[in-house]
Amino acid sequence: MKTLKERILKDGKVLDGNILKVDSFINHQVDYKLMDDIGDEIYRRFVDCKVDKVLTIETSGIPAAYSVARKFDVPFVFAKKKLSGNIGDDLFSTEVFSYTKSCLYKVVVSKKYLTQGENILVVDDFLANGQAALGMIDLVEQSGANVVGVAALIEKAFQDGGNILREKGYRLEALASIEKMDVEGIKIK
Ligand code: 5GP
Repeated sequence: MKTLKERILKDGKVLDGNILKVDSFINHQVDYKLMDDIGDEIYRRFVDCKVDKVLTIETSGIPAAYSVARKFDVPFVFAKKKLSGNIGDDLFSTEVFSYTKSCLYKVVVSKKYLTQGENILVVDDFLANGQAALGMIDLVEQSGANVVGVAALIEKAFQDGGNILREKGYRLEALASIEKMDVEGIKIK
């Protein structure tokens, strides 16, 4: 997606530990026009599929999931990282290793919001080693729903996540794919 690639090159910052900071337009301050375009592009790529619901993980996947859900005219659900008092105990739950925080955390979705037979499109801001996407896929499969595919705004192609998902047979669409990055710059495929 040309506008996303250009924005990454213009405003993305590379941090130590292979982290790309995009918090001026994607995951802290959010450029809503870019998010609208991201929703349009993910819709265009999955328009041949039946999508009943969009699933992401809080927090940074939420703006994109909203935008995609709006295009498909379906609800989106975000897996929660913390157990709030009122979520109930009828939950699907899985563990995810956080790439940015280097720790294992639990994510949950109420059983009310993932249902057998539904077609679920998984959306996230980044795909690095694939742990967040695999966690979401696990939640979907626990519920008996189907994974339509995974849409990542930014795939870091020098990490394993993309290959893992493709080898497992999941359809993956990344709007921008980063071949390599370091303090000297970002190279987009
Ligand atoms: P994975 O689970 O694929 O290893 O990593 C994806 C998750 O980690 C995403 O949900 C994203 O929030 C976070 N993440 C991974 N790499 C980056 C990165 O380079 N920059 C930012 N901001 N988040 C990342």
